[in-house]
Amino acid sequence: MQISESKRLFAHAQQFIPGGVNSPVRAFRAVGGEPLFIKKAEGAYLMDEDGNQFIELINSWGPMILGHNHPMIKEAVLKAMEDGTSFGAPTAKEIEIAELIVSMVPSVEKVRMVNSGTEATMSAIRVARGYTGRDKFIKMEGNYHGHGDSFLISAGSGAMTMGNPDSPGVTKGTAKDTLLAPYNDLEAIETLVAANKGEIAALILEPVPGNMGLCLPKAGYLQGLRDICTREGIVLIFDEVMTGFRLAKGGAQELFGVIPDMTTLGKIIGGGMPVGAYGGKKEIMEFVSPSGPVYQAGTLSGNPIAMAAGLAMLNHLNTHPEEYARLNHIGELISDGIMAINKELGLNYTVNRLGSMYSMFFTDQEVYDFATAKESDTALFGKYFQAMLKRGVYLAPSQFESLFLSTALSDELIHKILQAHRESMIELMH
Ligand code: PMP
Repeated sequence: MQISESKRLFAHAQQFIPGGVNSPVRAFRAVGGEPLFIKKAEGAYLMDEDGNQFIELINSWGPMILGHNHPMIKEAVLKAMEDGTSFGAPTAKEIEIAELIVSMVPSVEKVRMVNSGTEATMSAIRVARGYTGRDKFIKMEGNYHGHGDSFLISAGSGAMTMGNPDSPGVTKGTAKDTLLAPYNDLEAIETLVAANKGEIAALILEPVPGNMGLCLPKAGYLQGLRDICTREGIVLIFDEVMTGFRLAKGGAQELFGVIPDMTTLGKIIGGGMPVGAYGGKKEIMEFVSPSGPVYQAGTLSGNPIAMAAGLAMLNHLNTHPEEYARLNHIGELISDGIMAINKELGLNYTVNRLGSMYSMFFTDQEVYDFATAKESDTALFGKYFQAMLKRGVYLAPSQFESLFLSTALSDELIHKILQAHRESMIELMH
């Protein structure tokens, strides 16, 4: 694999951009080596600046669920471009996408569009605090909700990978209102609730966390959280930035039949453009300015190009339920294949999967929360990542991420991925 152009660009980038990247995990620090600079992407493939081609298992960290550069989305974007790129005024398309989101996501009765998942979660917490008149909120260790100050505490994902789970720059004052609990532990929530009676505005979590590697909720866990929040008047927020429109058209809440009070969305909702959204019960969302007192705004929010891409994506997913069956089938073929190969080689690494999200952890213990995820051998993961890359398969460059599959993965490509997996595992054993 020739990587001279990526190497040159990375050296150049570091002169002008902190660490050479605009988002930390892209720098490959957790897996060693240097990042590849991507020139273009098509279907299931990424192409780098040196002309190497990779089968893609991240898909821009989730948004590209139909594969890259999908003709339908491209067409919608190009058509929207003809009318101008930004107005800063209401448009008909914003109503169309809002109505569609309300029809797809069970908890959402009203929705506000923003520009990223980070903005969605920051805003949702503010609204929950405004609505309840309480300051504190509960988050789960190892869950990531973007880089808003109050979430950068035991934040998993990139923060975890960079070894700074609690970022400098977040004040003690801010941090004290963020209460932490292990994921999948209802008793811990009961203890926190009892110790902070009447002071907790919200409980936010990734219903199916992807930011400590993929973990699954234990039976009854999500319903248990729902019951506690209802009993205590706590706003239950599902952060479905990753899982929304991916695990089902209505996200994890549809799949598990547990309906939160508010939901945060991102990634797929923009079809690859920078879009996020937060929504929920009418009576809560009515607190958002200008109908209510909680301020939240955005120069580019509801941007017409971004809305066109998002609408094309959501309309397609809404009218093609077979895509979810296909995604589940692809996920099953890959995870079953990996487990079968591992078994053949006498390895018993934990594979967690739900639909088109999965992670393989380099531990033979069950992984169901942050502590168990951290048992994984990250050095071995780094070697696996490089071995797969060398064989033309591009994984997320950190153990503490989920992979995101797309409908562009044909059976032939899945076969190639499994072949690369077999060779990589054999290489790792020597
Ligand atoms: N919430 C979750 C669950 C996420 O996975 C992410 C990003 N990976 C975010 C929020 C933040 O989204 P963004 O990167 O668009 O700000």
